[in-house]
Amino acid sequence: MDKIEMTTPLVEMDGDEMTRILWKMIKDELLLPFIDLKTEYYDLGLKHRNDTDDRVTVDSAEATKKYGVAVKCATITPNAARVKEYDLKEMWKSPNGTIRAILDGTVFRAPILVKGIDPNVKTWKKPITIARHAYGDVYKAAEMKIPGAGKVELVYTKPDGTEERELIHEFKGPGVIQGQHNINASIESFAHSCFKYALDTKQDLWFSSKDTISKKYDHTFKDIFQDLYDNEYKDAFEKAGITYFYTLIDDAVARVMKSEGGFIWACKNYDGDVMSDMISSAFGSLAMMTSVLVSPSGVYEYEAAHGTVQRHYYKHLNGEDTSTNSVATIFAWTGALRKRGELDKLSKLMEFADNMEKACISTIEKGKMTKDLALITELSDVKVLNSEDFIKAIRAEYEEMTGA
Ligand code: NAP
Ligand code: MG
Repeated sequence: MDKIEMTTPLVEMDGDEMTRILWKMIKDELLLPFIDLKTEYYDLGLKHRNDTDDRVTVDSAEATKKYGVAVKCATITPNAARVKEYDLKEMWKSPNGTIRAILDGTVFRAPILVKGIDPNVKTWKKPITIARHAYGDVYKAAEMKIPGAGKVELVYTKPDGTEERELIHEFKGPGVIQGQHNINASIESFAHSCFKYALDTKQDLWFSSKDTISKKYDHTFKDIFQDLYDNEYKDAFEKAGITYFYTLIDDAVARVMKSEGGFIWACKNYDGDVMSDMISSAFGSLAMMTSVLVSPSGVYEYEAAHGTVQRHYYKHLNGEDTSTNSVATIFAWTGALRKRGELDKLSKLMEFADNMEKACISTIEKGKMTKDLALITELSDVKVLNSEDFIKAIRAEYEEMTGA
């Protein structure tokens, strides 16, 4: 059988630990036998990041800007223990943070649904995608402990030296204060990424904040989304048959719990932090959560939402069998390949991505799965496979399904 052709390379960002082991297995078993795979390879494994003074991370992000689509393996974000373990020159920054800063993107996380692993919320039938704004608010706040009586004000000093002031509180005794900020340009980028991704995936977009209480801060977010929608996206949304919908965060939470799913929920930074963990745990498993970074200019980087699965890697190094779930990493590849196929008008590549995803889902639905899923499934006749055999089972399913 002829291999499926590609015209433009994917930017391939290799990573660390157990996911690096899975990465190679996925390429060898599920991609290279079927696709004439073209990638521009960047090794973001911690050793190579250290060897290149982290230049490789920046280069991979620049390449993503150039080609438009990347696929990334999970990577270690160094902490003190990792500096020792890998004898690092420095505590290098989180690669995801570096890449996100260069692409100015928004992260969209969505669960992969399979029959037999049912969401804890009974009404959820389709995935709920969370988009989290990744700049500012409480994450870049200045804070003070106020020891006792005194006046606290917000002061804005203009370039000409004049000031504008707003009283925060006249303290009678001890307390605390916090100063938050955000930037219109960042909110606009966030909104563009959300509107683009909604059009891309043909899903409704919800955005929520607390503008009734925060009449200037949160209201600015609401206004920026509404202005962009009215001026740039309304026609395209109507044509695509999808809607943009703003509501208060508490109303959004209530509606989400009663919904069927199948939409994108855009959240401010803190709301997104909290809600994404709520959504992912209620859907079942971190190992079944996909993640894509979308830049306002329409550049895409696909990955799994989970980390490098360190505990499994140490078992693997000890020669013990592992049962690590590769589904989210496979979906990172298929997401990237489908997007590449769409941009380059390669219908066979898009079809491959669809079929490989179907093969993953039907393998699990037939009861063949990794241990993490076996622990939570409703299916009764279950066969727990090790990391490698699970990937081989997906390959067999793909070949049976497509006659490849
Ligand atoms: P993790 O790799 O997500 O794993 C945490 C635990 O979740 C695992 O020990 C495992 O539970 C379970 N798990 C996660 N993915 C799984 C999978 N595919 N199959 C089966 N079980 C899975 O998080 P971590 O151990 O806290 O972090 C390890 C490293 O990953 C850290 O160095 C961190 O910096 C990095 N990290 C990277 C990214 C990224 O690149 N996007 C994201 C998060 C973390 P059991 O051990 O109970 O089986
Ligand atoms: Mg969090």
